[in-house]
Amino acid sequence: MKIAILSRNRRLYSTRRLIEAAEERGHEVRVLDILKCYMDITPSNPSIWYIGEKLEGFDAVIPRIGASVTHYGLAVIRQFEMMGVYCLTESVALGRSRDKLRAMQLFSRKGLGMPRTSFAYHVHNTKDLIKLVGGAPLVVKLCEGTQGRGVVLAETAKAAESVIEAFRELRAEFLVQEFIKEAGGSDIRALVIGTKVVAAMQRTAMEGEFRSNLHRGGSAQLVKLTPSERQTAVKAAQTMGLSIAGVDLLRSSRGPLLMEVNSSPGLEGIEGATHKDVAGAIIKFVEENAKPNKTRTRGG
Ligand code: ADP
Ligand code: GLU
Repeated sequence: MKIAILSRNRRLYSTRRLIEAAEERGHEVRVLDILKCYMDITPSNPSIWYIGEKLEGFDAVIPRIGASVTHYGLAVIRQFEMMGVYCLTESVALGRSRDKLRAMQLFSRKGLGMPRTSFAYHVHNTKDLIKLVGGAPLVVKLCEGTQGRGVVLAETAKAAESVIEAFRELRAEFLVQEFIKEAGGSDIRALVIGTKVVAAMQRTAMEGEFRSNLHRGGSAQLVKLTPSERQTAVKAAQTMGLSIAGVDLLRSSRGPLLMEVNSSPGLEGIEGATHKDVAGAIIKFVEENAKPNKTRTRGG
């Protein structure tokens, strides 16, 4: 097969591993920097160009789109979809997962476990927002944040009010969420491919920190998931429409609670903690599923 990996940097661990796994399995791989792709959006003959060359003959596209280039990345994926090229991560699914609020609303519609979450626009609603999630301690999260940045624990109602006011001043969108104390500074990352969890790790926060992100000094180890954790992870990926997803869960006294579904999950942490060949599993899934005109969405 001829596979394109959409990535800004071929030296990133995840990109390198995908290239390696695809080549090992006899495929031709090209890494395309999405920001260097440009598009001809003429009626009935969509095309993509790359530094003067028309991109043709790809059997599959593996998008690895960073959060900061989501908007342009989505346009490039849509264009491939319009050309009938199989995209492992489809544009609509990526769009859903990048919008935290939209993703949480979809989980709630499906009845999936999640922390109590509230959201508002107007400053007059601050006290009610806090009340809706059961009061302090609570977590305030920027909708645009990644790697634990913009996730704040407010221990008291007064602290919560100040944090909410500060975020409002910045004109940032944020969620207010019940703090899951019994998670004990740990969370679960389940790597879902198709309808299976292929690897899972538990991340534990550094001493004195409640955020378990590896970028915040958290550590990771292999973990065995319960059947309900597996089921929640797979359902969450399916709710987004993602064939590959990194699903983050908290272990609570009322079962697994969904925090977030990542559409370009990093492979370094999870391969390191589990010693599983996740990149190989991704390429295998692409081999089994990539057919012309197989994308469910055609440019949205
Ligand atoms: P990001 O997308 O920036 O990683 P998350 O929403 O995943 O932000 O939060 C970062 C970390 O903070 C999580 O991995 C988890 O350890 C902790 N955390 C987030 N929300 C809660 C919560 N409601 N209760 C307890 N811990 C939380
Ligand atoms: N690479 C990020 C992670 O696995 C996710 C990026 C995204 O899809 O938002 O945590």
